Amino acid sequence: MIEIRGLQKSFGSHHVLKGIDASISQGEVVCIVGPSGSGKSTILRCINGLESYSGGSVDIDGRRVDNRHASIKAIRAEVAMVFQRFNLFPHRTVLENVIEGPVYVKGEDRAAAIVHAKELLASVGLADKAEAHPPELSGGQQQRVAIARALAMRPKAILFDEPTSALDPELVGDVLQVMRKLAGTGMTMVVVTHEMQFAREVADRVIFIDGGVIVEQGPAAGLLNNPQNPRTQDFLRRVL
Ligand code: ATP
Ligand code: MG
Repeated sequence: MIEIRGLQKSFGSHHVLKGIDASISQGEVVCIVGPSGSGKSTILRCINGLESYSGGSVDIDGRRVDNRHASIKAIRAEVAMVFQRFNLFPHRTVLENVIEGPVYVKGEDRAAAIVHAKELLASVGLADKAEAHPPELSGGQQQRVAIARALAMRPKAILFDEPTSALDPELVGDVLQVMRKLAGTGMTMVVVTHEMQFAREVADRVIFIDGGVIVEQGPAAGLLNNPQNPRTQDFLRRVL
């Protein structure tokens, strides 16, 4: 459902993505790992049109992600993104944050959006926080709101960019638990993460990126336990 072919991205003279090919199927959970600056966030941003790319192509269910406003808007409604820093509106309640996309972007009926939002908040363990404001919540709770907000758009896929790396260690588990549950529902997920244990347990496939190219990819257990490429071996030695 996500087809990436020969993806290239430069920022000025800085060539960041040097030909990325990856095909992600419906229901697949793919973790992207790699050193800082290797291009992981840039790949996610090219998939949902937050960043324009310089060459190659990205298609979502056969629809080309390009620079046209209409296509970007359609893609954003279909492919949600969860960021390292939760990007919630601080002055709106949790419930208002969750219904914002469905009501104002998709034009869903407000009452129906509220019913759906409450179900989603319950599913991430925050049924009692609907009327709270984000700054009153812990980082882990805010990130779970961000996941509920992403789900409220009824996306075809969710991209996660290091969703737990801004959290205090004791808050990481709850967020990973929500993501694990989501993976179990068959959601298509692309997760940039340093949580190797999560990748091992939940990912169908792990992609290792270094220097803007895919160095190695494969089923999580194989890649993490028995990496073939020296660069992958070196990276995993550092992080595991
Ligand atoms: P990290 O693990 O630190 O988040 P990353 O793998 O996500 O790293 P990217 O954020 O994709 O890396 O960045 C890849 C390279 O592109 C880096 O060298 C970065 O400085 C550069 N880069 C990213 N965004 C921009 C931008 N908007 N303008 C210029 N350079 C950028
Ligand atoms: Mg990044």
